[in-house]
Amino acid sequence: MASLPFNFYDLLETLPQPGCAVCNLCERDVNRFLDSHLYEYVNTPDTHVAMRASRFLCNQHTHQLVHYGASVLGIAILEASVLWELLRLAEVPSGGAFARLRGGTHSTADRLEPTGSCMACDVLTRAEKDHVRVLAELVTDARMGEAFRDSAGLCLPHFRLALRAAPGAAQQERLMEMQMAIWRDLKAELDMFANKYDINHAHEAMGEEGDSWRRALEMLAGRKGIFGLRGR
Ligand SMILES: [Zn+2]
Ligand SMILES: [Zn+2]
Repeated sequence: MASLPFNFYDLLETLPQPGCAVCNLCERDVNRFLDSHLYEYVNTPDTHVAMRASRFLCNQHTHQLVHYGASVLGIAILEASVLWELLRLAEVPSGGAFARLRGGTHSTADRLEPTGSCMACDVLTRAEKDHVRVLAELVTDARMGEAFRDSAGLCLPHFRLALRAAPGAAQQERLMEMQMAIWRDLKAELDMFANKYDINHAHEAMGEEGDSWRRALEMLAGRKGIFGLRGR
C-alpha cells in the first residue's frame, strides 16, 4: 500500500476537535510560520525580497505578530528592511518634488503599492489546498470516513473547496452524504435552541444546543482570520 501523506494523520487527529478541521490545521500552520519559521529565514535574502515586495505582511497577519513577542528582534529586522525599501521608492525622482506628487502611473503612491503577496497568506493558501486535497482524496478511506462522519464537518468555504478537489464521484458523494448529515444535525440543534428560547418553553433546560448558534457561525463563514482578507 502506498504511504499516506503526513497530513492524513494530522486530519485524523484534528477531525475530533471542535470546529472545521481544515480551519484548525490552517490556523496551526500559520501560527507556526509566524511564531518560528519566519525567523529561521529572517536573514536570508529571499525573505527580505519577499517582505519588501509585499510591504511587510497583510494587516491581519501583521497584527498577529504581537502574540509572538519572543521574536521581536526578527520583527524589527524585517520592519527595518521594508522601511528601507519604502524610503528608496519614495526618494524624489529626477523632476523634483512636483513630479513625485503629481498623479499618473509612476506616482509615488503607485510605487508604494505592494508587488508581492503576504508571506503568511501564501502559507495559509498552500496549507488550505494541501489539507483539503488530502481530505477529499482519502475520504473513502475507512479511518478518514469515520473521523469525518463523527466530526463537526467542514465550514462552507472549505466544503466547497473539498468538493472541487474530490478526484471522482465516489469521493464527492461520500463528502456530500456526510456533510449533509452534519448540517441536518446542526439545523435540528438550532431549531431546538430557538424553540427553547420561546416563552412557552422557557422552563426547559438548555442542553448542548445552547451554543449551536455559535458553532453554526463558523460552519457558515469559516474560522475568524482564515478568510478575512481574501473573502470567499
Ligand atoms: Zn474551514
Ligand atoms: Zn496575510
